[in-house]
Amino acid sequence: MTELIMKSQKRIALIAHDQKKDEMVAWCMKHKEELGKHFLCGTGTTSKLISDATELPVKAYKSGPLGGDQQIGARIAEGQIDMMIFFWDPLEAQPHDPDIKALLRIAVVYDIPVATNSATADFIITSQYMNCDYTHETQEYKFAAAQKTETEPEINSILRSER
Ligand code: PGA
Repeated sequence: MTELIMKSQKRIALIAHDQKKDEMVAWCMKHKEELGKHFLCGTGTTSKLISDATELPVKAYKSGPLGGDQQIGARIAEGQIDMMIFFWDPLEAQPHDPDIKALLRIAVVYDIPVATNSATADFIITSQYMNCDYTHETQEYKFAAAQKTETEPEINSILRSER
């Protein structure tokens, strides 16, 4: 088990597909005061719409279809993002569907809270854990570390033989 600690100021990633952007902006307006206590980031277009509407700072990554989902997934893997509000569109196929799947997967691996609709997002943002430190554990780290140790000698000998 590896312990992950979320500080009271959370690092929140915000993403919304095109048909869900109005809903995301409305949700951010509704929770503007609480969101203002945290560090916000998101995919390109979503970030801009949120910061224009709320006047809160939102660090913008690339637009989702241009790699923004992958960038956010990488930040989660690095422990740089604590939670994610991701309003994905259940009615329209997306060109970057593999990226979306990868992002949702990595959020589970690192046990971060994810809201994929407004009601869940309401429950998360009003949680008692939003304004205090929160500690959780992941088994996946242990699994990955064990695997790495097992495969490392093999990989090292392959690398040596290629030199
Ligand atoms: P966007 O990306 O905020 O740049 O539109 C979201 C997405 O489609 O994944």
